[in-house]
Amino acid sequence: MTAVSPPIVAGRSCGECTLCCKLIGVTELDKPKGIWCKHCDVGVGCKIYANRPAECRAFHCGYLVNDRLGEHWKPSRSKMVVTTDGPSVTIYVDPGRPGAWRVEPFQSELKHLAQQAMRDNAQILVQQGKNTIVILPDGEKNIGVLSDDQAVVTAESAGPSGAQFEAKSLDQPAVSDLPRPATPSASPRSSAADSEERVKSERMTEQPGPSFAAGDRVALLRDRGGLKRGMLGTVTERQTIRGGVSVSPDPSGQVVFVVFDNVIGMIPTPVNELEKAEG
Ligand code: SF4
Ligand code: SF4
Repeated sequence: MTAVSPPIVAGRSCGECTLCCKLIGVTELDKPKGIWCKHCDVGVGCKIYANRPAECRAFHCGYLVNDRLGEHWKPSRSKMVVTTDGPSVTIYVDPGRPGAWRVEPFQSELKHLAQQAMRDNAQILVQQGKNTIVILPDGEKNIGVLSDDQAVVTAESAGPSGAQFEAKSLDQPAVSDLPRPATPSASPRSSAADSEERVKSERMTEQPGPSFAAGDRVALLRDRGGLKRGMLGTVTERQTIRGGVSVSPDPSGQVVFVVFDNVIGMIPTPVNELEKAEG
């Protein structure tokens, strides 16, 4: 279960709902997703409530904490449990109600969320059994079974009749296999502009690695507690730093860059450092 503890929306509570105890995995209990926890009294509550795992204590589903989800999202009724990861959302669907997200008003709401998600570099995912389905502003894409070392990436591009969208899974490299950038050495400052130039130059000379050219397709992957998502994009002049990195704002500080389908580098550097270097 995801560790989140935002405030509960006024008037909402679990009540008779126990659906997360079926749909969400609990690492401490070695409980997989999609099967009832052995400690659940279905429709009543947790039989070990006082001693339940920390993951369970920390978990609050999207219905409880997000007032943008209406009452119809109550998991015991909708048969879906929503979890959030920043602006990204995953909807776990009860195997006993396959296709629940295609019923209105859910389908239209998910399409709207997907439009917002594309603007926020986020994804709306539906977990139906072992399959991961990416909801896109113009439809959906079933990308099948995701392994732990794969990430979901989405992209928007200009098509002949307007914006078009794509989604796919990418293999995630082992961190130890990836090149790491050199850390620029500290130098006395003469001026902010000089300092920025020096940092840029140091990165260019000390940081071997692949060089992105404008027009290369890259994926920006984020690793947040094992959940990997990303955006596909095309390198522009502004995003290119000679010597190895392409930068898009990413508050996570854990950024992986790959050329479409081929991993070529990882930058475990806070993005504000990169922005500084970019000048
Ligand atoms: S799915 Fe949400 S409402 Fe239902 S029991 Fe879990 S936390 Fe409570
Ligand atoms: S331990 Fe309790 S709260 Fe946690 S999944 Fe099992 S029944 Fe639910």
